[in-house]
Amino acid sequence: MEIIPQCDWAVIGGSSTFSLAFPEDLGSKETRMVEEGLIFETPFGQSPPMKIFELKGKKVITCKMHGWRKGVSWASASRQVFWAFREAGIKKIISEGGVGCISPELKVRDLVIPDDYIDFSLRRDVSLSDDYLLIMRDPLCPALRALLVKAARQSGSSRVHDGGICAVTDGRHFESRAEVLMLSNLGADMVGQSLAPEVYLAREIGACYVGIYQVVNYAEGIKDEWDYEAFREIFYAEAKRIGAIILKTLSSLSDFLPPCSCQSLRKPTLLKE
Ligand SMILES: [Zn+2]
Repeated sequence: MEIIPQCDWAVIGGSSTFSLAFPEDLGSKETRMVEEGLIFETPFGQSPPMKIFELKGKKVITCKMHGWRKGVSWASASRQVFWAFREAGIKKIISEGGVGCISPELKVRDLVIPDDYIDFSLRRDVSLSDDYLLIMRDPLCPALRALLVKAARQSGSSRVHDGGICAVTDGRHFESRAEVLMLSNLGADMVGQSLAPEVYLAREIGACYVGIYQVVNYAEGIKDEWDYEAFREIFYAEAKRIGAIILKTLSSLSDFLPPCSCQSLRKPTLLKE
């Protein structure tokens, strides 16, 4: 079993880069593969396979769609990944995924960098320890979000949304019309299944967390019924662009990162005897 090497940043791949070998398929001259197929032993079971690559002298660890492994619960998969990230000393994490849109401001193929969430996944068994009180003010790092928004706009994507509230559901199924109406009434702009529990685990390990989400369909009842074939095409279409946006964000991160308060939003628990 592998010893977990020290790394600087992490990327959690979701549905948008699923069809891609990230970062190799992007052909970036800035990246160099260090190691692939790394599986780490954790108290929550073996981690999914991870890769480490180098970018501008920084080490980036990455894994794919960790929540969808057969026989492994989402909670266990998430804890395996974040336990490995904590051991690797990770302080910045970028994730991506697909969402269904609820807000009339959003269209299919838009890119959204949310700034808040409402969690309906209600997973309580998702911490690595009982050591911290986690304050979920500014859950998505404002400094890292600004870099991600800038990189997305520079990529030629004309419809990039800076902010938005993502409702998180358990899945795997999508939401019913009545559920989408409820989420809309509660102020959600979009709905997805991958922002929690990651956002809590990131705060627990003292890392900044941010995500970029592609709108892949209209949530049920928002517009006409969506078409599966069109959905499938959108699901894969933007893989390279989103992968490139993530690399560009990491690259600018190595030059300068404005300060943020993420680390100060993790306090020692008051519930210890
Ligand atoms: Zn931060």
